[in-house]
Amino acid sequence: MTDLRHAPRVGLGWDRHRLEPGRRCVLGGVEIASELGPAGHSDGDAVLHALTDALLGAAGLDDLGSLFPDHDPAWKDADSTTFLREALRRLAGLGLRPLSADLVVVCDRPRLAPARQAVRGSLAGLLGLPLDRVNLKGKTTEGGDAGRIDVQAVVLVGPSEA
Ligand SMILES: [Zn+2]
Repeated sequence: MTDLRHAPRVGLGWDRHRLEPGRRCVLGGVEIASELGPAGHSDGDAVLHALTDALLGAAGLDDLGSLFPDHDPAWKDADSTTFLREALRRLAGLGLRPLSADLVVVCDRPRLAPARQAVRGSLAGLLGLPLDRVNLKGKTTEGGDAGRIDVQAVVLVGPSEA
């Protein structure tokens, strides 16, 4: 069989949270001014949850829910950058690092546009990548469903030494 050790790997992540009044709205580690925020056991950062799942998927490391069970009190209101950092640590343990990431955020309210570059910068910083290797696109459902946020993430992962 071909030696795949140095071949890049792709990972896909998806997350959805209900949006509720009075919850903090943190996306990609950035707090956004909003009357609605994602409900959840942790801080509900759907951007980081989808991205973390994509990284774990690319590395063949199961998923976010297995690593950080949502019934575990340790993760109540947790800062989701903890999850992303732990995933990156596990990838590094396998000699892997992210090479690029692309995300789609589907959300009617709050509008992503005013915060998009800040969130993109935050993700690039967390992943240790230049800005042009991290992209974030905002979509709305044009009024189809204002009560939730959906996020899709795709990452490319490759060997740390290349
Ligand atoms: Zn989530």
